[in-house]
Formats: sequence, structure tokens, C-alpha cells
Amino acid sequence: TEKRVYNFSAGPSTLPVPVLEKVAAQMLNYKDSGMSVMEMSHRSSSYLEIFNETKALLKKVLNIPDNYKILFIQGGATQQFSTIPLNLMKNGKADYIVTGAFSKKSAQEAKKFGDIHIAYNGADNGFKHIPTQEELDLREDASYVHLCSNNTIFGTEWKYVPDTKGVPVVADMSSNILSKPINVADYGMIYAGAQKNMGIAGLGVVIVREDLIKDHKENIPVLMEYNTIADNDSMYNTPPTFSIYVLGLMLEWIDSLGGLEVMQKRNEEKAKLLYDYLDQSDFYHVHSDKDNRSFMNVTFTCPNKDLDAKFVKESIAAGMSNLKGHRSVGGIRASIYNAMPLDGVQTLLDFMKKFEEENK
Ligand code: PMP
Repeated sequence: TEKRVYNFSAGPSTLPVPVLEKVAAQMLNYKDSGMSVMEMSHRSSSYLEIFNETKALLKKVLNIPDNYKILFIQGGATQQFSTIPLNLMKNGKADYIVTGAFSKKSAQEAKKFGDIHIAYNGADNGFKHIPTQEELDLREDASYVHLCSNNTIFGTEWKYVPDTKGVPVVADMSSNILSKPINVADYGMIYAGAQKNMGIAGLGVVIVREDLIKDHKENIPVLMEYNTIADNDSMYNTPPTFSIYVLGLMLEWIDSLGGLEVMQKRNEEKAKLLYDYLDQSDFYHVHSDKDNRSFMNVTFTCPNKDLDAKFVKESIAAGMSNLKGHRSVGGIRASIYNAMPLDGVQTLLDFMKKFEEENK
């Protein structure tokens, strides 16, 4: 591991070393099966054990109630932008809360399928802000309200679940799922692309209240019908077998450390180190409003673009990678998901101090 860098990528992102070591150790011969997980039939007993244990562990770690279905789907989070309106927009109306690039994309996609009302649009303030309850303009007759719980690009995060007067909340949790405990029952559906806190790309995880998917419209493409996927336990076709296996290892790792309370404590500690320093600095500027800051993606700028570029360049020489902010925000973005160790954040912090000293 001595040559590994601290990888602050927003996703696919750094994985825990114990998970990578286990993958490596099991690569050629998984538990005496004589083959790797990649080579197994998805219907073999060896694989079904991995699949069922992964599902059970996700249910345990996230504390998912019995009336929710867990679906493992190829296509990532973006596929759900289309699948959600196809399955859940029963009366042709849905509300979307737009707080960043991905919630904007999800609303745009849903507009193909029905009457979409934008309950809040953060574009006017550069997506620095998460709306308060009072700032939301929700319709009581919407089929669902869609939000993105953590805005990967802008570095903002919801700190509460809005009151929607019984309208199901559908949440894109791609970039903060498994980072802290949540009450699953507050949501009609939760979904995420796996390539951050859930492991590697190729897998979308959907957790949906079963009554919401009982009936669906006619003529939905078969791999987009949630109830077909649920009735076949995510095996209507071949699921992304290796990504599911890695999710299982990620969950084992979280569970062995003490579960989501421990993740939350670790994540708060890491984020606080960075934000406390940024707040007292008049060199760096945090992009997001103070109340809405993401504990997963810390976004900030240097005094000008040249210094942003210099920061990124010198950070690479100092053993860090992927700190360049998204092109729509500029500056620096440090993605500090569950797998980023405290040492990595401390290394970044020391570098930030030194860089400020040398360039102010
Ligand atoms: N939603 C959020 C919050 C994301 O961060 C991402 C990807 N970074 C997506 C959706 C899109 O996910 P995917 O690439 O798995 O389709």
C-alpha cells in the first residue's frame, strides 16, 4: 500500500484498503469454489450466498423496514431518473426540488413523462443553499417529491427531511448513503449509484416501499419495471454480480467498525477539521452556505483561478489526487467519503495551511 495516494475523487472513489485486500485475496479462488466471483453463475449456490448476505447486511446496516424492497439494478443512478417517473408517477404529477446538477438532470428527464413542478430551484444562488421547509412550494396532489440528499458537485447536503404532508419523498442518496444513520421510513424510495460509499460502478441500489410499486403503467420497458425486478429478486436478468459482491464487503467493513453511528462520527470529525480551518482563513472561500455544508464533498476556492490550478498541481506532488473542483464550480473539491481515512484529511489540511502561507 506504500504507493497508494490519498484519492479525493468524487466517484468512482477511494475504497477501504481492507476491502481491496479481501478482493485480492479472494480473486483467484473464492472460498474454495475454485473460481473468482466474476466467473460465477449468478444462480450458483456460491453466488446466491453472497447475494443474500449482501441484501441482509444492507437491511441490517441501514435498518430497512420489512415493507421495503431492495433492488440491485444495472445502470447507475441516472437510469433511475427515467425509471422513477415511469413507475411512481401514478397521476402524472410530481414535484422536484432542484439543488444541484443531478437533481436538475432528474427533473429534466421526468418532464418527458408528466407534469413536473419545480418546488424550489437553487440555480439562482449558484446552488449554495438547501431550501428550508418554508422555501418549498409543494403540491399536495403530487405522486412524489424528488430530492437529492447530497449535491456531489456543489458540496451541499440536506440536514432534515422535508414535511411533504404524506406525499412520498424519493431521494437520490448517491453521494451520502451509508455516511450516517437515516430513518428509511421517512422515504418512499431511496436510490444510489454504488461507486462512492457502496463500492464500485455498475450497480444502482433502490430501496422502495412495496405499496408504491404494486401497480405500474402498461408498456414500461421490462428492465425498468420495479415490480418485475422485485418479483424476480433482482435476477430477471444477470445482475452486476461483482459490484454486488463489493457492496457486501463494504457493508462488512462498516459493520465491523460499528455501523452508521460510527461512520457519522468519523465523517463529522473529518469534515469539521476542514471546515473549521476554512472558516478562519481569509485566503480560502467555502462554496456552500454554512448550514447546508456537505460532510462528503467539501468545495472551496483559492483567491483566484491561477492559485486554484497551482493548488491542484502541487497537491499531486504532495501525494494527493483528484482535488480539482467540477468545471461548473471551479476551485477545489475534496470528496471525503467513508473510506477516506482521517490521515488523508490531515495530510490535505497540512497542505492547505502550507499553501496558504506560501501564497497569501
Ligand atoms: N446523483 C448524484 C448525487 C451523483 O453524485 C451522481 C454521480 N456522481 C449521479 C446521480 C449519477 O450517477 P451515475 O453515474 O451512477 O448514473
